[in-house]
Amino acid sequence: MGELNETSTYAWTVDSDKRIRISKSTLDTYSNWCAQQMWLGKVLPHADVEEKDYLTIGSNVHDRTEHFYNNGWDNTDVIDEAIADAKKGNYKSAREKLRGLFPDAEGDYADREQQYQDWLLDNDILRLKHCKDHTDFLPVGNELDLDAIIEVDVDGTTYEVHLRGIIDRIFKDAEGGVALMELKTGKWHNANTPKMKMEMAYYAYVLEQSGAADDLGDVTHYGWRYPKADHWDYMEMKKATLTAMKKRLHKLVRAYVEHDFPTTKDEFKCGYCDYIDFCPKGTPFENPVEFANGAEPIWKEGRKDEFPPHQIVKLLDLRGAWMK
Ligand code: SF4
Repeated sequence: MGELNETSTYAWTVDSDKRIRISKSTLDTYSNWCAQQMWLGKVLPHADVEEKDYLTIGSNVHDRTEHFYNNGWDNTDVIDEAIADAKKGNYKSAREKLRGLFPDAEGDYADREQQYQDWLLDNDILRLKHCKDHTDFLPVGNELDLDAIIEVDVDGTTYEVHLRGIIDRIFKDAEGGVALMELKTGKWHNANTPKMKMEMAYYAYVLEQSGAADDLGDVTHYGWRYPKADHWDYMEMKKATLTAMKKRLHKLVRAYVEHDFPTTKDEFKCGYCDYIDFCPKGTPFENPVEFANGAEPIWKEGRKDEFPPHQIVKLLDLRGAWMK
């Protein structure tokens, strides 16, 4: 999957011969954080990502969880035996069986990662006794990588939009549909917010539009597991959430067509933004994006004097990091 990426771009303008590309993350940043930040994040060159412990931990735990379920599909007899154990109340034996399928954590953060994986295992063991056999227990989608092409009408013109999505897990539910489950290795966020529900509605929509739902079934529920916070949430997907998400999606397509990515009025968000020197709100340059991409800076009138030489050097260094 992802092969359609060559046909689309996040940095789309009306002159582009590609499709507009949208992901859960760009829709979220546009709708819930700052539209301008979403745009700058796609048109400025990217600095090397500094290694952060939480990113490494998240990636490792996601990878091993994916392997755990793949191992389950390769050893369905073990899953069926664990289900039989759990139905008899022998959870110790059931746990040992599943633990044998879950790769051990290793590396610099092995202790924390193993703690999260143990939590995920224990959380899964709670499901065992409710399962008929392995087909109920194992996900029907495991890190499912999806592409969908949709058409969106803006003022009578149709635009093709490429939707990207990678869904952590998809399980059969009891109603003939499916439930989407996300693994969050960071801190807990209240699930009962439009932001959280929209993310899942986006995935449900990509699943439907990609055609994968024809085989798997429609999304009826979604949930999140937070091993770090010892918490999980599960809820029904409401039609109204899907409708609201589609409206946001269409709003983002219109923003691309009109090239309208406003800055946020929330100064708190700007305080955490890496792009302040390249954003219309704070940039001293007439050509911030071009400068970031290698052009000579064109200073706004009188602004250069505001920048002491060491700060100019810092900006050029920043660009140097991006250009690597
Ligand atoms: S500095 Fe503020 S307005 Fe500008 S991109 Fe960042 S968050 Fe948005």
